[in-house]
Amino acid sequence: MALVVQKYGGTSVGTVARIKAVAQRVAKTVQQGNSLVVVVSAMGKSTDTLVGLAQEISPNPCRREMDMLLSTGEQVSIALLSMALQELGQPAISLTGAQVGIVTEAEHSRARILEINTARLKKHLDEGKVVVVAGFQGVSNGEELEITTLGRGGSDTSAVALAASLQAERCEIYTDVPGILTTDPRIVPEAQLMDEITADEMLELASLGASVLHPRAVEIARNFGITLVVLSSWSDAPGTRVTSPSPKPRSLSGLEIAKAVDGVEIDTNQAKVALLRIPDRPGVAAKLFGEISRNNVDIDLIIQSVHEFNTNDIAFTVVEDVLNQAEAVSEALAPSLRSQPTATEEAEVIVDRQIAKVAISGAGMIGRPGIAAKMFKTLADAGVNIQMISTSEVKVSCVIHQDECDRASQVLCEAFDIDSSSLPVSSASIPSQVPPVRGVALDRNQARLAILHVPDRPGMAAQIFGLLAEKNISVDTIIQSQRCRVINDIPTRDIAFTVAQGDAEIARNAISELAKTINCGEIIVDTAIAKVSIVGAGMIGCPGIAAKFFSALAKENINIQMITTSEIKISCVVAETEGVKALTVVHQAFDLAGKDKIHVPA
Ligand code: ASP
Ligand code: MG
Repeated sequence: MALVVQKYGGTSVGTVARIKAVAQRVAKTVQQGNSLVVVVSAMGKSTDTLVGLAQEISPNPCRREMDMLLSTGEQVSIALLSMALQELGQPAISLTGAQVGIVTEAEHSRARILEINTARLKKHLDEGKVVVVAGFQGVSNGEELEITTLGRGGSDTSAVALAASLQAERCEIYTDVPGILTTDPRIVPEAQLMDEITADEMLELASLGASVLHPRAVEIARNFGITLVVLSSWSDAPGTRVTSPSPKPRSLSGLEIAKAVDGVEIDTNQAKVALLRIPDRPGVAAKLFGEISRNNVDIDLIIQSVHEFNTNDIAFTVVEDVLNQAEAVSEALAPSLRSQPTATEEAEVIVDRQIAKVAISGAGMIGRPGIAAKMFKTLADAGVNIQMISTSEVKVSCVIHQDECDRASQVLCEAFDIDSSSLPVSSASIPSQVPPVRGVALDRNQARLAILHVPDRPGMAAQIFGLLAEKNISVDTIIQSQRCRVINDIPTRDIAFTVAQGDAEIARNAISELAKTINCGEIIVDTAIAKVSIVGAGMIGCPGIAAKFFSALAKENINIQMITTSEIKISCVVAETEGVKALTVVHQAFDLAGKDKIHVPA
């Protein structure tokens, strides 16, 4: 007999008829010989309705009372589902988060789960009952026994945490879409259902997938090796499996307080090629990386940022063995990029073998400001200068001088409490049938800030991002590029990053203050941007993926403003007005578009 955790979202229990349908499915799963814990969300949009009521009373209600209010939504649906099951002759009992013993930290409205007491659950399961648990809520540790909630969308997290604590065979998330799609079907109707996706890919697609699956739920599934399936409540189709490799054994106590960073990676076998002052127009990146992939050279990091005088720098890293080829291709291309009418200085190619890449990775950094800042601070305190920075949802990579690699790795392992650093994932460990690109995401809610002429010495990035973390601003993409300008005898570099649009002004003001003390140049804010990303574990060791991405954009004459990468993700910032077009053509270019349209509820 298998133990299964099922979770039904708000739409799936939105009406009495739907609750009855859910009860049928639950009863059927029991008849197939399973024992069942069912987690439910509040009916339909009732959480939003409750938020609305609170707002009619106060523009800024206290978080404790909000938890008291919002947790009632789930209490309604657990009772009704339990009744519906009993009506079918299926013994069932409903329990709130507190009754189960879902113990969380005492952080109202965003509590993380510390542990789940399974004794009462097991007792009822042994009695042959289906246990219906209120999602999204828990009870604080300590004496006060406060009702807490996990944050909007948190029922997924409750379900996966229950599956981990009970060592369930699988966790099924029932929702109103058929599973995880290759992109947002409301923008690209040709989006297709994926049969499978790895938890790592899912996390990198957080901006695409977050509405379908809470990233914290994916993090727990990955950490504890839970089989997670996302499927439709309206059909019997198999949905999408979110897979994880077998995890290292870890304790269930402090369940969600897993470390924000769970790996430090170093790679000394890298060399850097940078093309400086190339014209800022569509097609340049496509041409460069197209040539490189025709030579079958696989690139690792790619970084492009915006600069003054309408020129860009593109820098990339390759393994040292192929540096000569990469350099030759870049040199051959450079003349065609020179003497642009708009350029005040000429394009130039530089190479550097003396570099190393250090990276921190971990799902826990999503939505937790300050992790990148801590990395930069740690490196600064050790006197390590950062030459380039590139980030993704779950990774921050820095290019540093090779001689400083050992020291960097040691201080980072200490700072993030990691036993030893490792080599990055190699293509050898990726099964060959994995598609190079799994999904494409568009994020239209970001703004870009560029700080010009930041002095090139250790500690600058640490100060900037430390300050933003203090203001509780989550920084998304961070790019520190190659270009070095000497101003009053001090070498400087530009640093650009993106934040949620709503945070752009706060970020600008904070940094303007800091700018006076660190002596950097102008701060440029652009809110009219969009970020398009491709994600896929199969792109590791597969040359030509970046080239295909960039050339799909070039064909449509879409200019790339910034590029940033991790091993399994490439993101480009483009003008906001071109975001939808970019998403559509890139999705098409990777053959992800299908003929059948997926039905998505409005
Ligand atoms: N009802 C809560 C919300 O709407 C939790 C959930 O549905 O996951 O955010
Ligand atoms: Mg949800």
